Amino acid sequence: MLQTDIAIVGAGPGGAGAALKLHSLGIPCVLIDQAVFPRDKICGDAISGKAATLLNRLDPEFMDRFRESTDRQTGVWGIQFSAPNGTMVDIPFKFPYDKEQEPAPGFVSRRMDFDHLLIEKVLRSDSISFQQGIRIDRYERIPEGWLISDETGNFQVRARLLLVADGANSQFSRKHAGLEKDLRHHAGAVRAYFKNVHPPHPEQFIELHFIKEVNPGYFWIFPLPNGYANVGLGLRSDYIKKRKVNLREAFLQIVKEHPILAQRFAGATMESRLEGYGLPLGSRLRPISGDGYMLLGDAGHLIDPLTGEGIGNAMYSGFIAAEQAQKCLEKGDFSAGFLKDYDKRVARVLGSEMKLSYQLQRMLRYPWLTNLLARWITRHRWLIELISRMYTDMELRKQLVNPMFWVKLVIKLLR
Ligand SMILES: Cc1cc2nc3c(=O)[nH]c(=O)nc-3n(C[C@H](O)[C@H](O)[C@H](O)COP(=O)(O)OP(=O)(O)OC[C@H]3O[C@@H](n4cnc5c(N)ncnc54)[C@H](O)[C@@H]3O)c2cc1C
Repeated sequence: MLQTDIAIVGAGPGGAGAALKLHSLGIPCVLIDQAVFPRDKICGDAISGKAATLLNRLDPEFMDRFRESTDRQTGVWGIQFSAPNGTMVDIPFKFPYDKEQEPAPGFVSRRMDFDHLLIEKVLRSDSISFQQGIRIDRYERIPEGWLISDETGNFQVRARLLLVADGANSQFSRKHAGLEKDLRHHAGAVRAYFKNVHPPHPEQFIELHFIKEVNPGYFWIFPLPNGYANVGLGLRSDYIKKRKVNLREAFLQIVKEHPILAQRFAGATMESRLEGYGLPLGSRLRPISGDGYMLLGDAGHLIDPLTGEGIGNAMYSGFIAAEQAQKCLEKGDFSAGFLKDYDKRVARVLGSEMKLSYQLQRMLRYPWLTNLLARWITRHRWLIELISRMYTDMELRKQLVNPMFWVKLVIKLLR
């Protein structure tokens, strides 16, 4: 049996991020994953500036090496949105930007590669005991904390504090923390790898296409190295159920028949299976800690309800959980009351953007409104600049939840 202060279940960006942060704080932990790495994770593979900033803070050299590995990642400088009526809007992450002089704000990197890079760093960190190929099936509350084990009971870990980062289908989150799936705050998505989608975006922006038939979901094309792209389709689960949408069929129909997009796939080849997975969205505030545990990333339903971004949020929650764990160890307090600070900090960091993303997600239910917004943006350069600044200016972003901001904006647009 292994004995530790902190056990982390799941070594995706949430769990690995927490373990690496604990290592930087000088706190040992046991990190367990059912998979043997490198392993894949069904994802769009877009890595936001948020994840890049955290990794840079943790280890600037790691980020430098990642940036240099151009066979494993494509630097991303902005997003192209296309409205249901086909209006295209390019919004750079920085305005203006200089590809030659500055590092890319975001990336696309296959999770097979990106997660493995994190795990390679985990393996170089002597205070992390990494146990891979072990599936945790049992969680037992004991006076000292938790006793967790695999199905056979041959593998056991006794820990004072549990960090649960086992992803969207987290058994602990459902059974022990009581976080049920709520279809209005959950999405389904499918993705496949393609080669030679033509033409690629000239600036290698990631592309989000809002298509009437799958509104308010979107179809994406994210560029990868060597002519590959991650292509997918996602939609909120209540719409999938209500409209009886078969995401796989809808995806293939877009690729084969969509009036604009199908031409871009005419010479492309699908290089993987089309696979689907769930996205627990952070649009509903839920408790993400309890007596002796914290929920990280997808296990805590922390995916952005508009963009589907979960990698950066999982890493953020992992870093915050590690800092909270440090406080717990210092005070010897692992109670639900003390761990509530974790919920508060996660809400402080991610709460306002979740709220805003949820508002925007609901606005995009109306194709006419999406079309109107796209038309306004294409006509007003200052609006592109404003949205672009919002990627990095948190104070500006917070104004978006203020109705007066919108009133002033509409008055300016109508002038
Ligand atoms: C189709 C799709 C597209 C997406 N696109 C994007 C995108 O482009 N950008 C973005 O930022 N986010 C995207 N997301 C969301 C993103 O994939 C997740 O938010 C992110 O992976 C969450 O990280 P995590 O560490 O919480 O969980 P995961 O990455 O799911 O890691 C969980 C880990 O736990 C392990 N595990 C599970 N159960 C057990 C067990 N019982 N015992 C031991 N180990 C266990 C798993 O093997 C896994 O390694 C997408 C999601 C989907 C489904």
